[in-house]
Amino acid sequence: MTKAPTQAAVQVALRIRPLNDRDRAQPRFASLSENDVLNVQDKNVHVVSQGKIFHFDQVFKPSCSQSDIFLTVGDKLVRHFVDGYNVTILAYGQTSSGKTYTMGTAQYSGGVEHEGIVPRAVDLLFDLLASPSSARSTPPPSSQLPSSSLSFGRSRMRPPRSTASSATTPPTTPPASITQQHQTRRHTVKVSFVEIYNEELIDLLNPALPSERPPITIREDVKGQIYWTGVKEMTVHNADDVMTYLQQGTLNRATGATDMNEKSSRSHAILSISLKQEKWMPRTKRGGANHEDGTGITAGDWVITTSKFHFVDLAGSERLKRTAAEGDRRKEGININAGLSALGNVISVLGDPSKKHAHIPYRDSKLTRLLQDSLGGNATTLMIACASPAEYNLPETINTLQYASRAR
Ligand code: ADP
Ligand code: MG
Repeated sequence: MTKAPTQAAVQVALRIRPLNDRDRAQPRFASLSENDVLNVQDKNVHVVSQGKIFHFDQVFKPSCSQSDIFLTVGDKLVRHFVDGYNVTILAYGQTSSGKTYTMGTAQYSGGVEHEGIVPRAVDLLFDLLASPSSARSTPPPSSQLPSSSLSFGRSRMRPPRSTASSATTPPTTPPASITQQHQTRRHTVKVSFVEIYNEELIDLLNPALPSERPPITIREDVKGQIYWTGVKEMTVHNADDVMTYLQQGTLNRATGATDMNEKSSRSHAILSISLKQEKWMPRTKRGGANHEDGTGITAGDWVITTSKFHFVDLAGSERLKRTAAEGDRRKEGININAGLSALGNVISVLGDPSKKHAHIPYRDSKLTRLLQDSLGGNATTLMIACASPAEYNLPETINTLQYASRAR
């Protein structure tokens, strides 16, 4: 049994995908059903053939829908993001365990019920931004969610909602017409989409030839906030804008690769949404009355809150294990995905209260460096470990369970 449940810096959920035709075609498939290999009891997973039990913050059985998952773990993270916190969701697991399906970071296809976390999160994000007063952190119980939150199954053919949630180009001073009845909040949403392949950052939203793209650098400002240069950040006005860039980036990812599957299983894809919210705070004169100059203009300041949401579809974990199993430490640098091994180290330090003052090795990979201000600290991090219920995948599945339970 792994660590007892506590409120950890990194929350870990396990999702077990359904068996598919490929699994059933395996020679050793026999007549196993979905819970013969991994048996789920509440938040525990029992590896039947080994008698081992792993504990998680959430376990999603093969029968769990995309909507179940979003409502259980995604909804509150979007609200937290709108409250001004950095949020990261990472999908971990071997290739074809369901990372991309769960995250929804691939080109959209299939029915809306198959939409992953990204399209649902951006729908909710723009709904919340359109009604800022209701955007605060307490989500209603799922049985009483407002219709906007329950309507994720709607068609993407819906009319654009850009008017209700339009981002603004912020002037430096409030418009002269501003009064308490006028605009007191405004926001700007930007999206970027990068890939990390062999420790190299690739901007998936830059259509220029790789040789003509500016170099990408990751820097840290005095407040410890991470920013990058050389990455396109596109302003978006509604959920459909985000989905358009997601599709464009996915297409760039595919055309730039000689072997799409090989590359996507070895690279991390990171879709990042940055949110700048400005709230007009009238300045109050001594005695309590607002300072007005006779023209109806209230003096005050725009108070700015910024937050970032990273959706990370990690490289396939199988390479990590293969080399580790060979026990050849010299090969690590060459074969092990630097991002996955650094991520494992970072989150195990974050999750261990006895290492509270320990050095956190963010700089060991591009992935952890990029996510530095969005992993641990005030940020909320959710790792969704994806696993197959098929017997022939069991060695990889155990590896995933071990990696993910180390993250708690
Ligand atoms: P990965 O990104 O980990 O390599 P994918 O997300 O591409 O894996 O999933 C592999 C295949 O299994 C895809 O065809 C995907 O649509 C399907 N799949 C994965 N998880 C589920 C699920 N929970 N329900 C239905 N189909 C799934
Ligand atoms: Mg994938």
